[in-house]
Amino acid sequence: MQKGIRYVYVDNVPDHEGNNTYCHNCKKLLIERHGYYIPTYNIVGNKCKFCNTVIPGVW
Ligand SMILES: [Zn+2]
Repeated sequence: MQKGIRYVYVDNVPDHEGNNTYCHNCKKLLIERHGYYIPTYNIVGNKCKFCNTVIPGVW
């Protein structure tokens, strides 16, 4: 139930930051994209650098 609520909440947030990717667990910015240039990169492997949550569907 909690997992379902979490993903529904994320789906309802307007994507006003374009292609930026946020951690669904700690909400920190993981990847900031400006076109093909990626100045912010906070994923280690396929996990959030801050809370170690696996980020699905990124790579
Ligand atoms: Zn996180």
